[in-house]
Amino acid sequence: MKEQTKNFETKCVHSGVGEYEFGSVVPPIYQTSTFKFNSAQHGAALFAGEEKGYIYTRMLNPTVEALEDSIAELEGGYKGLGCASGMAAVHTVFAALLKTGDHVVCSAAVYGPTTTLLNTIMKNFGVETTFVDTSDLEAVKNAIKKNTKLFYIETPGNPTLAISDLAAIAKLAHSHNALMAVDNTFMSPALQRPIEFGADIVLHSLTKFLNGHADVVGGVVVVKDEAAYKHFRKILNQIGGVIDPFNSFLVHRGIKTLSLRMERHCESAQIVAEYLEKHPLVKSISFPGLKSHPQYELAKKQQKGPGGMITFEVEGGLEAGQVLMNSVKLCQLAVSLGGVESLIQHPASMTHFSMGKEGRVAAGISDGLVRLSVGIENVNDIISDLDNALEKVKEVVESALAHKE
Ligand SMILES: *Cc1c(COP(=O)(O)O)cnc(C)c1O
Repeated sequence: MKEQTKNFETKCVHSGVGEYEFGSVVPPIYQTSTFKFNSAQHGAALFAGEEKGYIYTRMLNPTVEALEDSIAELEGGYKGLGCASGMAAVHTVFAALLKTGDHVVCSAAVYGPTTTLLNTIMKNFGVETTFVDTSDLEAVKNAIKKNTKLFYIETPGNPTLAISDLAAIAKLAHSHNALMAVDNTFMSPALQRPIEFGADIVLHSLTKFLNGHADVVGGVVVVKDEAAYKHFRKILNQIGGVIDPFNSFLVHRGIKTLSLRMERHCESAQIVAEYLEKHPLVKSISFPGLKSHPQYELAKKQQKGPGGMITFEVEGGLEAGQVLMNSVKLCQLAVSLGGVESLIQHPASMTHFSMGKEGRVAAGISDGLVRLSVGIENVNDIISDLDNALEKVKEVVESALAHKE
């Protein structure tokens, strides 16, 4: 019989799911720290890698592995490695691939703590980083050094939503004997599969779209072949930042609805972005589904949808932005993203505060920027919430103008 190739939506429901005791339809939660050996010889064989099996949950656990297999299949990779958080995944990638004297080319618009990790801990270990606008291929070329070992790309970048050309950068990386790792958190494999464009490593904060329900912190690294998997597994086992069985179970459950959720996120974010772009108090907006986005065409080529994230700036700067965030009622004022509920936050004072003002200016993050994660509520309710809040902003802006006169 010919093996049937499954479509993505089907994979979301079935990937990583095997056969279980009692005919259980979902993977059981193996809430155990350790696994009994059949004999001393069996234990020795497992440790020597001569037999397959589970030893200790930091090393591997069946519930965790079910999740890892699911995401690896969705990304088109060989295997996944479940991490305690997205940052644990980022750290695992750096620890597995870099050593003293190496150089990294990193997207300037990148998750704030990733910048901080490179600028502090990795720097202390002798790894040097050049942050560059990776949506500008010439700038990427100019940043390359003899010792460049890793191109670390986030696209769309957080929070500016700048889009980088994955195929072009992968080619560049490989021609310099370097690897390309992509943080695919903002897209999820439903909208973008970096391995198809030549990425060597894909990572995610599971906390966001993959889990999708704002109740888990987790991360994952996906690699392309067995050699990389063995190496990364050894590193993760030493670092110790692994996800636990219960959180793995929850994320695996969340993934079943990933393609459905992403469709709604994209559809609603498009409507919200079009509403905001027309609003007189919205000074600027970045959303890959708008023709005004500088990489609109690239987004269409590389992504299966615009995603659920919008960043925009209202007239009146930081103060007006704060009025907006304090006035919304349905959109919740909280960091994080990618959950079923709409969230709004202020990068300069929140997610990207640790980068410092200078770093933010270089990455194009102004003080007035607001980031919105569009949830799966009815889009009319999201818009009327924003509309009411923008009315409040109008009062503030008008009274400020009146004072000036
Ligand atoms: C949230 C996030 C991370 C970090 O993930 P945690 O689970 O919070 O550690 C990394 N990259 C991106 C793009 C993120 O949005």
